[in-house]
Amino acid sequence: MLKISLDRLDDFFARVASEQSLYMPVDREDGQAEFRKWTEGSKLSQRLNTVRSAKDFFFPQTENLVDFKIQGKNIEVLDTREECEDFAVFGVRACDARSFSILDKVFLCEPVDSYYKNRREHGVIISLSCTRPAETCFCTVFGIDPVEPEGDISCSTDGKSMFFKVNTPKGEEFVKKFADVFEDGDPAQLEKMKEFSRNVFKKLPLANLSTDSFGGDKMMKLFNSPKWAELSEACIGCGTCTFICPTCQCYDIRDFKTNDGVKRFRCWDSCMYSEFTKMAHGNPRVSQLERFRQRFMHKLVYFPSNNDGEFGCVGCGRCLTKCPSSINIVKVMKALEVEE
Ligand code: SF4
Ligand code: SF4
Repeated sequence: MLKISLDRLDDFFARVASEQSLYMPVDREDGQAEFRKWTEGSKLSQRLNTVRSAKDFFFPQTENLVDFKIQGKNIEVLDTREECEDFAVFGVRACDARSFSILDKVFLCEPVDSYYKNRREHGVIISLSCTRPAETCFCTVFGIDPVEPEGDISCSTDGKSMFFKVNTPKGEEFVKKFADVFEDGDPAQLEKMKEFSRNVFKKLPLANLSTDSFGGDKMMKLFNSPKWAELSEACIGCGTCTFICPTCQCYDIRDFKTNDGVKRFRCWDSCMYSEFTKMAHGNPRVSQLERFRQRFMHKLVYFPSNNDGEFGCVGCGRCLTKCPSSINIVKVMKALEVEE
C-alpha cells in the first residue's frame, strides 16, 4: 500500500496545491472545522467533522445558471458555465464520502445536472478514516464502514504514516501524478488499529439504532402516524438541519434583473421553509407538521423507496448537535420505531 510519513504530509499538501486546488478541513477561530483551500501554513484539522459537509464542492450553496441579455425585443441567452479545473478534497469522512452516492442518484439521473456533473468529473475525493468517533455518530446504522471510507482514494493513519488506498481510476490517475511523494508501506499495524476502531464504533450509543421500521413498504402507516404532531411541535422551521446535512439536495431557482438583462441563479432551499415549493395556488404543505414530516419521510421512506432501499441519511450526526430545538432524525426514528 502507498504511504507518506506524517511528518511529510504538509509537503504532500504543498506539492498537490502547487498543481491544482486542494481543499481540506482546517480549524476555524471558533474551534470548529470547515473545508478551506490549502494555503501555506494550513494545518489539517484533527476534528471529526466539518460544520458544513463536503457537498458544497459539487453542489454549492449558490450558483449562477444562465444570463439573459435583453436589447429591445431581443433576448440573448448567455451560457455562464465554465469547464471546471481539476481539484482535490482531502479529509472527507466516511459519512460525507457516502453522501456523494446519494447526491449522484439525484443529480446524475436523467435529465443530468450538468453543473453538478462537471464538478464531480473534476473533483478527486480523498477520504479519511475515523478512529475516534463522536457519541452522535451513527453511520454504521446505514451500512457505512467508518474505517474504510469510500472516495476515489481512502486514507488511514497508524499514527506514524498516512496510508493511501486507491479505489477508482480517477484516484489511480491522481496517485500517478504525484507518484514521487509516495513510498510503499506495510499496513499490518494499520489493520489492527482498524479492527480496534470498528469495535469502538460498535459500542457507540446510537450503534443499535434500527432502520427496520422504515422503507417504502411502510409508507402510509408512517405518513399517518399521530407521532408527527408531537415530534414537530418544537420545530421553528429555521432550516439549519437541511443546510448542514450532506444529503439534502433541495434548491430554488430565481431570476433577478440586472442593468441589461436577467441573471438566473439557484440556491439551496429547505423543505422546512413555509415558502418551499410555493406555486401559483399556494404552498402544498401549509403546516410545519407537514413540512417536518416531509423531510424525514423523504430520508427514511421516499428515497429508499425509489433507490433500492438506500436511505437518504448517512448518520453524520450534524443535525443532532446543530438543531436549536434539539430535534433530529434519531429522535424521529426512535419515536416511530416504538410505535411500530
Ligand atoms: S428540525 Fe431543528 S434545525 Fe431543522 S428546521 Fe426544525 S428547528 Fe430548525
Ligand atoms: S439527517 Fe442528520 S444525521 Fe442524517 S445525514 Fe443529514 S445531518 Fe447527517
